[in-house]
Amino acid sequence: VPLTELDARVSVCRACPRLVGWREDVAVQKRAAYADQPYWGRPSPGWGASEPRILLVGLAPAAHGANRTGRVFTGDRSGDWLFASLHRVGLARTATSVHAADGQELVDTRMVATVRCAPPQNKPTTAERDTCAPWIEAELALLQEHVQVVIALGGFGWDAALRTYAGLGWSARPKPRFGHGAEARLVRADGGDRAVTLLGCYHPSQQNTFTGRLTEAMLDDLLCRARTLASL
Ligand code: SF4
Repeated sequence: VPLTELDARVSVCRACPRLVGWREDVAVQKRAAYADQPYWGRPSPGWGASEPRILLVGLAPAAHGANRTGRVFTGDRSGDWLFASLHRVGLARTATSVHAADGQELVDTRMVATVRCAPPQNKPTTAERDTCAPWIEAELALLQEHVQVVIALGGFGWDAALRTYAGLGWSARPKPRFGHGAEARLVRADGGDRAVTLLGCYHPSQQNTFTGRLTEAMLDDLLCRARTLASL
């Protein structure tokens, strides 16, 4: 299945009743500030380069972010931080990501959500995470020959990346622990000579950025490291 068809298929998935209900309720009720806008209210496919060297793995769409705009990390505070930093280091064409037709482009980079529908309180259940896993696995199966660096945003993205790569025959031993700046080398269990670097990054959530746990300089440094590892 080509990437565009995968995107089309995931965007109509209804496999998780609780998340389908939530994403559609939010899209009808809306936040007052966006009352005049249509909401996407569906799963958010991966977005960016189709042959990326860098892959960002996040948690799930924000209720009034990607669940509104239809584009991952677009239209919320986490995305504001992320795109500004991506632009500063040369991985995004512009510094903002406001809506799906704003002209933004990622450079050799793609971003995906692990769970593709917005969950209440940003917390998918383990069963929802597992139900959605085939989507990210199918996407990574298509991308794995290009991706050299995976940036895991938060511990959830870290574990999801490790699990997904393991399902595709890649391993890292001993199991690496998440931390900001942590690096792990994933190699093919069948002895192939390719390696991918998994890079841990604190999630640019307001919880982290408001408290100074993640600063702009830390995020810029980490994305620069990813660029170097990806030979960009
Ligand atoms: Fe489908 Fe994933 Fe959304 Fe569940 S979270 S409905 S599996 S796209």
